[in-house]
Amino acid sequence: MGLRKWVVTAFLLLLHHISALPQNIHIAGVFHRDVDDYQDVAFSCAIDRLNEEQKLLPGYRLVPEVIYVPSHDSYATGRQVCNRTQSGIAAVFGPQSPNSKGIVSSICEMLKLPNIQTNWDMNVNLESSSTLNLHPHPDLLAKAIVDVIKYMEWKSFAIIYQTHESLMKLQEVFKSLDKSVTTSVYQLAEDGDYRAMFKTLSKTSQTHMLIECDTDHIVDILRHARDVNMLGDYENYLFTCLDAHTLNYIEFQPFMTNITFLRLINPSSPEMQDAMRDWDTRGCRHLSSENMKVETALMYDAVSMFATSLIRADASEPIETESLSCVRPQAWSHGEHVSQYMKMFKFMGLSGELTFDVKTGRRKDITLELMEVSHAKLRKIGNWSISSGITQEKDYGEQVSQEAKLMMQNKTFSVASKIGAPYLDWKNRSASGNDRFEGFSLDLIDAIAKHNHFKSYEFVIVPDNQNGMYVKETGQWNGIMGEVINRRADMGICDLTITYSRGLVVDFSAPFMNLGISILLTKPSKEDPEMFSFFFPFSFDVWIYMATAFLGVTLILFVLCRITPHEWDNPNPMEEDPEELENTFNLMNCLWFSIGSLMAQGCDLLPRAVSTRLAAGMWWFFTLIITSSYTANLAAFLTNSRMDDTIKSAEDLADQTTVKFGSLRGGSTGQFFESSNYTVYQRISAMMKQTKPDVFTSTNQEGVDRVLKEKGKYAFFMESTSIEYETERNCELTQINGLLDSKGYGIALPFNSPYRTFVSEAVLKLSETGKIKEIKDKWWLVKDGTGCSQMEKEEENADELTMANVGGVFLVLMVGCFAAFLVAILEMLWNCRKIAVEEKITPCEALVSELKFAVNLSQKTKPNRKKKSEKSGSSASSSISGSVLVETNHKE
Ligand code: ASP
Repeated sequence: MGLRKWVVTAFLLLLHHISALPQNIHIAGVFHRDVDDYQDVAFSCAIDRLNEEQKLLPGYRLVPEVIYVPSHDSYATGRQVCNRTQSGIAAVFGPQSPNSKGIVSSICEMLKLPNIQTNWDMNVNLESSSTLNLHPHPDLLAKAIVDVIKYMEWKSFAIIYQTHESLMKLQEVFKSLDKSVTTSVYQLAEDGDYRAMFKTLSKTSQTHMLIECDTDHIVDILRHARDVNMLGDYENYLFTCLDAHTLNYIEFQPFMTNITFLRLINPSSPEMQDAMRDWDTRGCRHLSSENMKVETALMYDAVSMFATSLIRADASEPIETESLSCVRPQAWSHGEHVSQYMKMFKFMGLSGELTFDVKTGRRKDITLELMEVSHAKLRKIGNWSISSGITQEKDYGEQVSQEAKLMMQNKTFSVASKIGAPYLDWKNRSASGNDRFEGFSLDLIDAIAKHNHFKSYEFVIVPDNQNGMYVKETGQWNGIMGEVINRRADMGICDLTITYSRGLVVDFSAPFMNLGISILLTKPSKEDPEMFSFFFPFSFDVWIYMATAFLGVTLILFVLCRITPHEWDNPNPMEEDPEELENTFNLMNCLWFSIGSLMAQGCDLLPRAVSTRLAAGMWWFFTLIITSSYTANLAAFLTNSRMDDTIKSAEDLADQTTVKFGSLRGGSTGQFFESSNYTVYQRISAMMKQTKPDVFTSTNQEGVDRVLKEKGKYAFFMESTSIEYETERNCELTQINGLLDSKGYGIALPFNSPYRTFVSEAVLKLSETGKIKEIKDKWWLVKDGTGCSQMEKEEENADELTMANVGGVFLVLMVGCFAAFLVAILEMLWNCRKIAVEEKITPCEALVSELKFAVNLSQKTKPNRKKKSEKSGSSASSSISGSVLVETNHKE
């Protein structure tokens, strides 16, 4: 009895011990020997860890069944998997090869065995409830790539792919891109030489490349790009593979090229660090955080995730494997259960949080890190998730700008420009470097370079000396624009107007000068001042009417004076009742009175009768108004020479055909008229195109010369700043009317230039401090006082009349004096004749004696020859009457 009891006790103890042993669960991993991604190692290491740390998988022990199959032989793969299912397995992991994935997935679906895959797959079986893929679906990755493209503001880029499979991965990218984004597609050469492709690309001036290739090709691709100068400051490479971070970029350290990619695995995440420690203690060869490929990490996650699901499924019923045959298929009773758990629970793995779409078994809600290579080191730009797109790291912008600053300080900037004063002109052709030039552009770049601490800069003159326009025939931009677009120059500066079309192909700095289009024409010719311009205040009619009024009033006054009794006076005040009355207002005196009043001088004769005073009063009123009007108008007429100014605006130009007009060929000015919706400007554009001979010029200088040559018969549409420069130097030229538009000059930089912000900042700073104004004044104003603006100011101040204005008045005075002299001679001759008759001498003797007296200045009194002759004659008369006679004679 004692023995029986002992045996029973021992049996029960054994049973208890056996039941406490973990249950073995076999899981199969299907791998290929020819693929060295160490997924098999990750598979085994993950199982080892789970088995060792029993708390991770209580009550179970996973037994790995590693199957190596040829990657291209799906039949062999299927057979091997079926062999293993017969011995009872709980899940199949893999395979990697797209050729054998399908068969494994079908077998697992048939037997309801969970199949966990880790490589990218375009066609995750939507019908399959047993297959799960931990690799983000290409469509999801494509969404991330499209968001990156938008974030980086690519408007045009080249898509470079390796195989047709790669194109399939990019399908969604093609579909989701904006219509405005232009793409070109290139395939990597199979022979591994990509230089020819990059050469072709460099000719198209494309700087943005999206590359879908295996991770192993990335370094070769970058090397070949470097060989053909496609690894400069302005090139951008975006790689779509998720393992680009595992590469070493040290050889590309000197290049500022933007290399960007996404990654799923963060080697420094806590999960990865934890796993790393485990691998080190366990001696899991080939597994390291730095160069772990995404599939390897996913295999590790897949095993861990399966284990977790197993435990959760076990909570409802204990899990056991069953022998399953592919020939007589029978579903594993726990299969669906375990698969469902895997899809429903969240699991934190090396590749982040694993969540799945229950229907499709595809991974959802992944978070990717957007990374870039900066000086051979990796830098995180931000995170991407389907819900929030790209969220940039806080200090990323600051880091980038610090880096660009450092780059600038070690860089020699090539500055494309053209010859055209005052922006840039030759100073000394035989000198070298920048010493050959002078001008506004040189001074401005110098100031910017000092502000930003550029290492140095070098001006290069473009061969065609053009600002730059798009040439339809060649499909290329010429001039400075072409140099900047093709990144042969880091900057382009001259009178380069910021326009919409240029803004699409280059980046512009903040404008350094504001301006608008205006019209350059020779000044309207001033009419020569006229000698008799004092006649101008009144029209000819008014002068005639005035003369008529003068004569009319004189006659009226004469008649009135004869009619009215009050104008008849006693000629001899001594005689109280004279026999005859005398009227002072004879015709001559009336004329004298009228002219005296008209000239505002008055007269010693004044009317006394009411009627004549009334007439005189009215005449004075008339002369008051007339002389005041004349005086007021005279000043204006004497000082303002009249101008011939028929063209006062662009509208005036459009409404006539005598004055031809043109603009710079291929410049923004011509473009302004061509693209304007305003009918007048459209007409101007059409007229310019139709006019023969050609009205367009190759340079602004040619336009200015033509304006000067054709003197008022050719007008040139030019930008106000250039007009300002020309009109300061050539006083014949003038700007007509105001500005037709408003725009600015900017410095052109290649698209996405890392220096753009710094150049703009410098421009704004220099503008605020007045430095740009100072440079402008230096090159625009003429300092020696011969500038037209200075001379015009002086002319305005000195508004005096010249002899040309008042010469006529002198002439009138001279003619008047001469006439008076003539009259005096006539009077003298008449007097001599009278003397000759009275003194009975010859007229000649009389003339000689009169002349002698006239020239003898010492004689202050003149003897009364008449009295003398009377005395010597028979009849004597009193001295009083004689003196009266003389008086009367005088009056007459
Ligand atoms: N500044 C202009 C340009 O950049 C030239 C012009 O049209 O006057 O095209």
